[in-house]
Parts: sequence; C-alpha cells; structure tokens
Amino acid sequence: MSSVRVRFAPSPTGSLHIGSVRTTLYNYLFAKQNQGALVLRVEDTDQERLVAGALDSIYDGLRWVGITWDEGPREGGAFGPYVQSERLPLYQAHAAQLVQGGAAYPCFCSKERLASMRQQQQARGEITHYDRHCRSLEPARAAERVATGEAHVIRLRVPEEGIVAIDDLVFGRVEWPLRAIEDQVLLKSDGFPTYQLAVVIDDHLMKISHVFRGEEWLPSTPKHLLVYEAFGWDVPPHAHLPNVLGADGKKLSKRHGATFVEEFRAQGYLPEALINYLALVGWSPGTEEEVFDIARLIQIWRMDQVQRAGGRWDRDRLDHFNGITIRALAHDELVRRIAEYVPASWDRSLLRAAAPLIQERMRTLGDAHDLLAFLFSDELTYDPALLVPKKRERAETATALARATVVVRYADPFEAGTLERGIRGVADELGWKAGDLFMAIRVAVTGRTVTPPLTESLVLLGRDRTIPRLERAANLLEV
Ligand code: GLU
Repeated sequence: MSSVRVRFAPSPTGSLHIGSVRTTLYNYLFAKQNQGALVLRVEDTDQERLVAGALDSIYDGLRWVGITWDEGPREGGAFGPYVQSERLPLYQAHAAQLVQGGAAYPCFCSKERLASMRQQQQARGEITHYDRHCRSLEPARAAERVATGEAHVIRLRVPEEGIVAIDDLVFGRVEWPLRAIEDQVLLKSDGFPTYQLAVVIDDHLMKISHVFRGEEWLPSTPKHLLVYEAFGWDVPPHAHLPNVLGADGKKLSKRHGATFVEEFRAQGYLPEALINYLALVGWSPGTEEEVFDIARLIQIWRMDQVQRAGGRWDRDRLDHFNGITIRALAHDELVRRIAEYVPASWDRSLLRAAAPLIQERMRTLGDAHDLLAFLFSDELTYDPALLVPKKRERAETATALARATVVVRYADPFEAGTLERGIRGVADELGWKAGDLFMAIRVAVTGRTVTPPLTESLVLLGRDRTIPRLERAANLLEV
C-alpha cells in the first residue's frame, strides 16, 4: 500500500445522497489509482441530527454501486475507532493540549448571554459573532473555574489580523481574512467536539493524505486551517468537489425529485449506469468517450479534470446511460436484473423468454413490470375507446378485430412472421392502415398502447390466451 489515504466521512443523518456517492466515487478512484486506502469515518458528533438506519443506508448504497473501502466501523483497521462518538477522549485531550499552549481557551458564557449578545449585534446591523468575552480571562483563573466543574466550551483563539489561505486542487487559491472568522467552538459543553475540531484531528491521526470533499465544506476550510496551525500539523492537499446541482442551478435536493441512492435503485436504475453518469457530473475526460465502467474510470479519471462549476443534474442523460447499460446486458444477467423488479409470482421461464423483447425499450428496469404484465395476468383493464383508431368507428373496429382473430386462430406456424403477414393482409383487405390494426390488437391483447413488439408478444402469450382477448375486445365494442 502506498501512503495515499483518502476518506469519506458521512454524517449518519439520513439516507445516502447521490452527491455523496459522487464524492465517494472520486475518493475511491483516487485511492485505487494510487494503490492507496479508502477510509470510511462516521461523523456523528451532532447527536441531535442522527437518524437510525442511516449507516445501513450508506453501507447498502455504496456496496450496491460497487464502491469498496479498506477501513471503517464495520471492517476495522489500524486507525480506529472509525466513529467519532467513540473517540471523545481523543478530542478532549487534544483540546486540552491547545488550551495548555494558549491556542484555545475555555469560555463560560451562558446561552442567555450569547443570545442577548447576538441580538444586540443584529440590532446594530452586524454579522453575529462571538465577542471574545472570555478570551482575555486570566488562564490560571479560567483553569480553576474549569476544575470546579463550571460549564464551559473550548474556543479557538483566532489571530486578529492577517489571512488564511489554501491552494485547493479544484478551486485554486482561496483566501479568507482572519477578521471575518470568529473564535469558533472546538469542544462543546457536553464534551463532544464540533465538526471543525474532530475532522482535523481525525484526518491527521488517520494519516489522511488528501482531503476530497463536497464544495459545501469550503467555507469551513479556513476554520480547519486554523486548527491545523494551532496544532502545528501539516495541512494535506484539499480538493473541494463541485456540488451536484438541480436543473435550476440550485444544490440538488428533494425539490428536484429523487436524490437518495435507494430511490434510484427502486426506480430501476442500474448501479453501473449511475456510476457512469455520476462520474461525469463535475468531471470530463476531455474526449468523446462517455461510457465507462468503474475499472475504466480508475484508468482515466483525473482530479485535474474536475471542473469548478457545479455539475447539473440531467435525468435524460442518466436515462441515456441506463438505456446503454440495459442494452449491453447478456441475456442471463438481463433476466436476473429484471427479476428484482417484478413479482416473485411471475413465471420465470416466461420471463426469460420475454426479457429480450423489452431490452431495447426499457428506460429503467422498473419499466419491465408494466411492459410485461399482460403476459402474467389475464385480467386486463383498459378503456375500450383506445381500441378504436382515429377516424374509425367502433363497429368496423370490432369487425377488424374479429378478422384478426381468424388470423391468430389459423396462423401456421404460430410465429411472428406468419402473424405479421396475416394481420397486414387483413388491414389491406379492409383498407386500413396496418399501424391502426396493430394498435387495436395491441390494446386488445395487452391493455396498453406501449408494449414490446406485437407479433412476438402474441407468440409468447400463445394462441390460446390471445384469442379470448381479441374476442373480448370485439365484444366490448359491440355493446
Ligand atoms: N461529515 C461531513 C458530511 O457529512 C463530511 C465533511 C468532510 O468530508 O470533511 O458530509
């Protein structure tokens, strides 16, 4: 293993978001390219926001898309524990060390005092910030108050003048004036660290060589840089990855539709397609190539081709990759995948035979159900008006269907070609457009206007199940 160690650090506050998968994917690719390690670290210091089952969703979702990692809460590793709430003594000791050295200080301000301070700042039109009330307390006196058990937080002593800056691998040089940064809380009064403290300590102690995370964390970076500085630690290279945006340019969220991996899965997106598509949200290989599997991405993905502008979510493009992936599946695999999306009661040999008919037509695997349901149930419900082509009457449609029934009854062999010729012959004799007759038969036999190729469908359905459906349709039109 090389010294490359990257991490993804989800907070278990909900289901796995598609944007987190993209960020994790880039970390994964980088780790693989460098024979490095990918670490999963759970950032659960904000205990109020925890959601039961969130970690399972993260594990399931990442496994489903094919991302694997080397160290984590369930796999262990040399740098554990990998869950922040199990590392509290570490953070507390490090915070104490900063207080000892003067880089941080205890703050005893009450909630009430902070609230009224903020109110006054707001009234003066200022951006609210901690007024550094406790910063000038005499250290020995402060230590005594801590020793007596007085409630307090630990705050970073942020220098008053100067700037803090980073050369981000995606965003380039970014600078922040120190004047704009308040004395942030590092350790809360309940002994839990803030994200700002824990993330820096963990990245350092876990020997993370590169920090790649979502763009939304860029505003936190100056705070992290100050913590690194306070400890005298080297700052690893950082890359902030552009947000995944909705079509309206706002960060992708519920308002835009599905955002969780499990939703895409439930709708019948294939993990390969999702990965292919996600890789391209924020990265472009600079060539025409657009279809990649994860192995190919490991070969060609490069951090310096990650774009700064947020990647727009484009459902049509995802559908495009989903279609490509579905069409590339070998027959057995296609059947196996479709089987997850249709009732277990559906006859498997019929499903095997039917799958190739819809391979070209599915947008998602979820479409299989509606496209094939007519084969697995004889109870069709549809509006009889759908049987009747434009500019045709009900009665003549009933006649046409009756004639088609004769074709079906006597087709020999009972094959697509024979049926096709027979039906076209009926259309010719009646002076109908063939397409109109096919549509009437399609509705009669499947109950739908969008189906697999018609004559192949009739063959699968079989003569004995097709005839009653045609007869019933003709009857419906005669009443
Ligand atoms: N815990 C943060 C999250 O939920 C990760 C921040 C980071 O990667 O530094 O996304």
